[in-house]
Amino acid sequence: MNSLIFDIQRFCVYDGPGIRTTVFFKGCNMRCAWCHNPESFSTAPELLYRAEKCVSCGACAAVCPHGAHTFDDTGIHHLDRAKCTACGACAAACPNGALELSGREMTADEVLAVIEKDKKYYASSGGGVTFSGGEASLHFDLLVSLLEGCRARGIHTALETNGLVPPERLQTLLPLVDLFLLDYKHSDPVEHRRWTGAPLEPVLETLRALDRAGAHVALRCPIIPGVNDTDAHFAAIRALKKQYGCIESAEIMAYHDIGKTKWDALGVPYTLAALKTVSPELKRRWMAQIAD
Ligand code: SF4
Ligand code: SF4
Repeated sequence: MNSLIFDIQRFCVYDGPGIRTTVFFKGCNMRCAWCHNPESFSTAPELLYRAEKCVSCGACAAVCPHGAHTFDDTGIHHLDRAKCTACGACAAACPNGALELSGREMTADEVLAVIEKDKKYYASSGGGVTFSGGEASLHFDLLVSLLEGCRARGIHTALETNGLVPPERLQTLLPLVDLFLLDYKHSDPVEHRRWTGAPLEPVLETLRALDRAGAHVALRCPIIPGVNDTDAHFAAIRALKKQYGCIESAEIMAYHDIGKTKWDALGVPYTLAALKTVSPELKRRWMAQIAD
């Protein structure tokens, strides 16, 4: 089976222990307003266009079968996304990296071939592979094949998940995942739905199921100024740590504006455009708020 992968990053050090390869699946069942990988929302391939890199050379217009690229009288380039079928021809032709096709069909063998390249680094650093997204569990068959492939090769596995995983799928994943990186985004159900587009309760049910199964969990908490940087939310995180023995660590993922340019490149309005990257000092204060 194939699935769309939008990135595979090698030598990652932030997605679990040691040196890791992180595999990013395309497609997500949440719509977090602060997402720094908005190209992961859709399960379909998508064209990203970075106007600041365009030199108006016309190479894209020459290859597009649907006339999606045009130039006005002043030579400024325009992209009509409604005409685009994401064939990728213009991205391949663009000489300046202004166009990028996000999402590539890959088989389990193809992904495992990349993962295996750094096996010796996993072994020496206590690392492994992390499956992320998007929501990796949406690509269930491929994910299970990859997890089994890693097991067979003795490679440590982590699954970064937003927690919206159907219980029966979670049962299959449990014996195959060494570490769950579980996102916890808001402790107020109404606000959770408002900012992520999804209900909170299934996330908590996933946490309860992980706890019952004795899984290893690292809680990952994106903290966004004006969204969830409240005493009540920090208190809720502390309470979860006390309540669920499966939570071995909790980490603050402080807001970073790194994803802003990707929203622009996708032609999607970014509602948090006024927010600035959180300072290291503020992140330290937040970390203290969730400490035991
Ligand atoms: S991806 Fe294909 S269809 Fe879309 S704009 Fe580029 S060449 Fe045209
Ligand atoms: S090929 Fe790239 S640089 Fe040239 S006009 Fe198209 S987007 Fe701009």
